[in-house]
Amino acid sequence: MNAPANVPTFTLERQRQVVAALRPLLPEGAVLFNEEDTRPYECDGLAAYRQLPMVVVLPQNEQQVIAVLKTCRDLQAPIVPRGAGTGLSGGAMPIADGVVLSTARLNKILQVDAYSRTAIVQPGVRNLAISDAAAPLNLYYAPDPSSQIACTIGGNVAENSGGVHCLKYGLTVHNVLRVRMVTIEGEVVELGSGALDAAGLDLLALFIGSEGMLGVVTEVTVKLVPKPQVARVIMASFDDVVKGGDAVANVIAAGIIPAGLEMMDKTSSRMVEPFVKAGYDIDAEAILLCESDGLPEEVEDEIARMSEVLKSSGATAIAVSQNDLERLRFWSGRKNAFPAAGRISPDYYCMDGTIPRKRLAEVLVRITEMEQKYGLRCANVFHAGDGNLHPLILFDANMPGEFERAEAFGADILELCVEVGGTITGEHGVGIEKINSMCVQFTAAELDCFRGVKRAFDTAFLLNPDKAIPTLHRCAEFGRMHVKNGQMKFADLPRF
Ligand SMILES: Cc1cc2nc3c(=O)[nH]c(=O)nc-3n(C[C@H](O)[C@H](O)[C@H](O)COP(=O)(O)OP(=O)(O)OC[C@H]3O[C@@H](n4cnc5c(N)ncnc54)[C@H](O)[C@@H]3O)c2cc1C
Repeated sequence: MNAPANVPTFTLERQRQVVAALRPLLPEGAVLFNEEDTRPYECDGLAAYRQLPMVVVLPQNEQQVIAVLKTCRDLQAPIVPRGAGTGLSGGAMPIADGVVLSTARLNKILQVDAYSRTAIVQPGVRNLAISDAAAPLNLYYAPDPSSQIACTIGGNVAENSGGVHCLKYGLTVHNVLRVRMVTIEGEVVELGSGALDAAGLDLLALFIGSEGMLGVVTEVTVKLVPKPQVARVIMASFDDVVKGGDAVANVIAAGIIPAGLEMMDKTSSRMVEPFVKAGYDIDAEAILLCESDGLPEEVEDEIARMSEVLKSSGATAIAVSQNDLERLRFWSGRKNAFPAAGRISPDYYCMDGTIPRKRLAEVLVRITEMEQKYGLRCANVFHAGDGNLHPLILFDANMPGEFERAEAFGADILELCVEVGGTITGEHGVGIEKINSMCVQFTAAELDCFRGVKRAFDTAFLLNPDKAIPTLHRCAEFGRMHVKNGQMKFADLPRF
């Protein structure tokens, strides 16, 4: 897929019509349409793909969200919800001739309750701000994307985001009890409840991870968990990535669920060490970070057991954090791995796929072979315990052909994930980035089923359209739809 042209693709007449309809609904300054105001919204973290939005709106309460959605539906204007714009798959990238609905002003923490161990927050609240607000009660919100300082809970819900602690504590879907959202018809719907289960079909689980295609989140109830009394992390070095990959599988097979189990290859640790001085072994081919948390006795026992498994798996050195400062220093390297890529390469392309843990070592070897094939370097950072890969493909967009090679390299990695029994996304979503790879992962019937779900929530296909679910025509063009005698099996199916 080529990056869309970075030019306005709406008519001024249409823009005037939409602005005139939206302005009376929102406070002064909450409808942006001049290019210097809308330009900052043209992309998310996947900056290679850009589209100038026609209009950006900044509602500050649910009533205003309802009014915007109803008006856009009446005008048949597509809407893209947007949190902090840290997404890495183009999910918040504007649609030409569409409206971006930013949640930046829906940023209130409405309640933190020690008795139910929950917090009720608006969608534009930052992930880390929830834990900060809960800290005086000795509680925190467990899912911790590396972008947690900036990303919003609305974006986390839409992407079903994960983080280093999700191996033990679960993803967003396991830590959200209730979502209040507005449909394209302007109807407010509550999914889930304050309890662990709710009556009816589990639409909450369906909604989490739906990438802004089913409704706009206006309120989220999250679970809070007690801060562990103690947390310690092991940094283990390996002289071979295959041994490191096998060690991950061995730790889990030993019946241990660490609080975090992350892996970085040599390229990654060398890239990040001069930046944050985390104390990484930069001569190791791979390092593993294995965290244990809980009561002091539990942690001591688990650290000892993990150290044994790591040694018997071939670790060449083991260091255990001696205090919380050192533990955070060890993690700071992992958390800063993506930004550090900018120090050694003008551009990087962060892939996200998931594989069965036991295939980790083999997949690493195959990715190294692809580096040769595409003539590009790749730094590997993983939520290894979850089998979630984050290969960072390093390239220079100013060099002719490098962006295209990086894209092809990324698509090859995703195909490999599917080949070994995994999936094309772990936590960053499909967005526009992986829309073609959906044709690799799913059959035409499955894709049609996904479209049916979208249609049930959004009959007009106005909420974040053309993202996440490819049309069958698109799959055919991508060469992943069976075409017989020049005819597609489902050629007559509508776009939606
Ligand atoms: C340096 C870096 C590190 C990262 N590390 C991680 C990581 O460890 N784990 C991880 O999972 N992700 C990670 N990400 C990806 C990203 O931060 C997450 O996907 C995050 O959840 C996006 O939140 P956001 O507020 O920025 O959402 P945006 O990027 O603004 O939007 C993401 C999607 O959510 C939709 N959306 C946003 N708000 C709403 C709403 N109110 N209602 C409905 N839909 C909505 C958008 O339409 C879009 O489809 C990282 C990104 C960066 C840049």
